[in-house]
Amino acid sequence: RNMLIVRSFTTLLLLSCIAFKLACCFSSSISSLKALPLLGHLEFEDVHPASKDFGNRYQLLPLAVLHPKSVSDIASVIRHIWMMGPHSQLTVAARGRGHSLQGQAQTRHGIVIHMESLQPQKLKVHGVGGGTTPFVDVSGGELWINILHETLKYGLAPKSWTDYLHLTVGGTLSNAGISGQAFRHGPQISNVHQLEVVVAGKGEILNCSERQNSDLFHGVLGGLGQFGIITRARIALEPAPTMVKWMRVLYLDFAAFARDQERLISSDDDKFDYIEGFVIINRTGLLDSWRLSFTPEDPIEASKFKSDGRNLYCLEVAKYFKLDQDKKDVMNQEVKESLSELNYISSTLFSSEVTYQEFLDRVHVSEMKLRSKGQWEVPHPWLNLLVPRSRVNEFAKGVFGNILTDTSNGPVIVYPVNKSKWDNRSSAVTPEEEEIFYLVAILTSAVPGSTGKDGVDQIVKRNQRILEFSEAAGLGLKQYLPHYTTRHEWRSHFGPKWDDFVRRKSRYDPFAMLAPGQRIFEKSP
Ligand code: FAD
Repeated sequence: RNMLIVRSFTTLLLLSCIAFKLACCFSSSISSLKALPLLGHLEFEDVHPASKDFGNRYQLLPLAVLHPKSVSDIASVIRHIWMMGPHSQLTVAARGRGHSLQGQAQTRHGIVIHMESLQPQKLKVHGVGGGTTPFVDVSGGELWINILHETLKYGLAPKSWTDYLHLTVGGTLSNAGISGQAFRHGPQISNVHQLEVVVAGKGEILNCSERQNSDLFHGVLGGLGQFGIITRARIALEPAPTMVKWMRVLYLDFAAFARDQERLISSDDDKFDYIEGFVIINRTGLLDSWRLSFTPEDPIEASKFKSDGRNLYCLEVAKYFKLDQDKKDVMNQEVKESLSELNYISSTLFSSEVTYQEFLDRVHVSEMKLRSKGQWEVPHPWLNLLVPRSRVNEFAKGVFGNILTDTSNGPVIVYPVNKSKWDNRSSAVTPEEEEIFYLVAILTSAVPGSTGKDGVDQIVKRNQRILEFSEAAGLGLKQYLPHYTTRHEWRSHFGPKWDDFVRRKSRYDPFAMLAPGQRIFEKSP
């Protein structure tokens, strides 16, 4: 018994020593950080907002939040941690808008960099009025919505988007940035000419592009924040349209829906400028709700359409145009011809005309509605997958036919993209070999506190079933916005890109201080 007491006492003593050592470590870190000369500031008190994200499931409390006023503030903090040596436990997470799903922009007891604080830097649009190909220089913490507003003043806009624009440049470029324009222009990472990056080693500020520091450039694009902090980006622009004809048509058969999507993205002529789609399972009143913003081409026939509880697949396409009646008539004629080649249910053509800005910022409208009902800040156990074209029908049969029983708690988006528009030298991972793959985004919101099928645990279990089904069937899919917990899973996610990923990590972030929330590398012991 005495032995037991001695052992418990020793363990307690050891734990207290560790806790004391950690406390000393943190207090010495805090005082040395406080002494850093910065244009911005380090916040040590109000750090809770940086411990949350859109996923609303993971919470890691940082030691401090850096609000940088300049790029050199970021470099100073990184250099400072580097100088503390490999044994320092401090890590650094750049936080864009914090719209990650599983804590990817968080760090426990580390420093979160609030990238939007860099935002006041002026956006610079170049190539206005022709001469050179237009581009815009922006801060890594800039929101895409602000880039849209600024570039439209010059009649220009980026070519490739995400569905939601209240995300930062650094955040989407660390993943890929995909939307309905990606089939033509590739993801956002394929539309960047140059980056400015603070690399983690000595906190150097480097410019990189295809020609300069190209290894860093390709590594950072889709690099999950592992190699450096993106502080500036040069983004390709194109002349912007003013209006958008936005159309939806329905299918009862997934294979017919996918065939038409693939036909459209493979066509050489510019039939449509945006191609997406979504799945509708067990939903009532959806077509009625569309009527608020979409007009049925044939209202009488459309009102007769009944899905009888079957799954529906909605193809969503858009054609951009400028407000000019002659051109609009030509455009309408072309659209009619393009639609006539498709095999949708003829009574289900719905269309709408909106400004280009309204079209691109469409998800923000839903955000405002959900916020007003308190349904925005709920857990979001989302699952994003990239499915090879040759296996997509099998995936649809197994998942939309069996595992997903309704889509009323969030959209399920499905659309194909062309792999040839992705640069294989980037860190972004796509299914191997096939030219076409599908983005399948299962964007379910959970009901807070529910233990039923709309609760977070059940949705996570359902996502797991989808992954297990795909694994067992050998579908060869990849996760987009990936989340894994073991080295083995990460290695298999990256496949042939793994060795390069590890090599770049040891070159640009040898102490593994960056983006620990991705859980790919452990901080050096
Ligand atoms: P954060 O969540 O803040 O950061 C994401 C990761 O990038 C973290 O690891 C972080 O450390 C790192 N990071 C952030 N900034 C930098 C930087 N400057 N330098 C280096 N690393 C950095 N994605 C699509 O592709 N297409 C879509 O259509 C789409 N729609 C979405 C809709 C909604 C409503 C939401 C919530 C997300 C959507 N996403 C979409 C996913 C989105 O692109 C990613 O979650 C993205 O990371 C969010 O950007 P953020 O600025 O919030 O990044």
